[in-house]
Amino acid sequence: MIYSHSRLSCFEQCPLKFKFKYIDRLEPKIQQGVEAFMGNMVHMTLKKVYKDIKFKKENSLKEILQFYNRLWNKNWNDSILIVKKEYTKENFKKMGEQYLKDYYNRYYPFDKGKIIGLEKKVIISLDLEGKYKLQGFIDRLMSTGKGEYEIHDYKTSFELPREEYLHRDRQLALYAIAVLKNYQDAKRVKLVWHFLSADKEVTIEKTERELEKLKSDTIELIKRIEKEKEFKQKVSNLCNWCEFRDICPEQKHLVKTESLESNKFLGEPGVNLVNKYVKLKNERERFLNKIDSEIEQVKEALIKYSKREGVTSVNGSGCISRIWVKDVATFPRKNDEKREQVEKIIRENNLWNELSRLDTFKLSRVFETLPQEVIKKLDKFKKMERIERIYLKKKLE
Ligand code: SF4
Repeated sequence: MIYSHSRLSCFEQCPLKFKFKYIDRLEPKIQQGVEAFMGNMVHMTLKKVYKDIKFKKENSLKEILQFYNRLWNKNWNDSILIVKKEYTKENFKKMGEQYLKDYYNRYYPFDKGKIIGLEKKVIISLDLEGKYKLQGFIDRLMSTGKGEYEIHDYKTSFELPREEYLHRDRQLALYAIAVLKNYQDAKRVKLVWHFLSADKEVTIEKTERELEKLKSDTIELIKRIEKEKEFKQKVSNLCNWCEFRDICPEQKHLVKTESLESNKFLGEPGVNLVNKYVKLKNERERFLNKIDSEIEQVKEALIKYSKREGVTSVNGSGCISRIWVKDVATFPRKNDEKREQVEKIIRENNLWNELSRLDTFKLSRVFETLPQEVIKKLDKFKKMERIERIYLKKKLE
């Protein structure tokens, strides 16, 4: 198999999707989401901008937008999925237009550097023997002179990732490995992302050490893929955009039923069972809440009764209830901000193991038996709490 960044990412996103796509080579019914379609149209338009520049043909913004619109209309088809139902294809088309307008205004007359390639195919060798190779396509490869190259990549997603995330990004760094190997004069390679929705450009450079580490990490990932047997599904938010939703066990039933009319939907056996299950679970929850609150009321009444009567055991038909009331010392629990200070005292006094790494219940129990100096230090963290319990004991026959 020829690997690429997108194939590796697909495996990381979901091994089952990888299997459907690259091993079983299934032809999906859902071709692509509208976001990916818009991204393609924008990429193709920007490719035209730079291709024309190479041939000394300059386009006005109006011509560029006309090209984009023609491309959109020619390629649009109704199998393109719109997940965010509150937006139409026109909304997405206009978004792409805006990206192109901003880009044009920012970079016109597009004369920074020499264009080396557009959608340029590169082969990346990860090892000396040439056993592990990847292929990729650079959106735009530029040379800015003196052995300096730039790999430009257009991003049409809504998010602007933080810079540290880009330092961990694999795609452009892999392309940098190919550029450094393929061009004899290449000394430096800059990685340039164009985040079109935010109209921002981010540039970083990788060190030789980082690129070496990337090679070995990528080889490890390829080895993992080649050893994989199970190809388990990995559910995430991205499932909504997956082109294999209609055959994936995780999403299949959702796809099958989501377009059914209301009465057919409710009559579908799976939907019916889920609804019944939810109803029973809710009823159980309501019932338990009601019983719990009744138990609390009776418990309170029983404790009051025992106080009033001055007794600690109250007789019943089959059971005797023992009423246990005690004021106990409690200490800061796990998420309490004061917990750290208590832990420090416990450690300093060599009680950490004895108190099972600070089990606050155990501490409450043994508090009075601790050395006086520890009691003194812990005293300010102590809070008295009244604990009231009822124990039932069955009567002998
Ligand atoms: S729908 Fe989700 S879990 Fe199923 S194959 Fe696609 S990405 Fe994987």
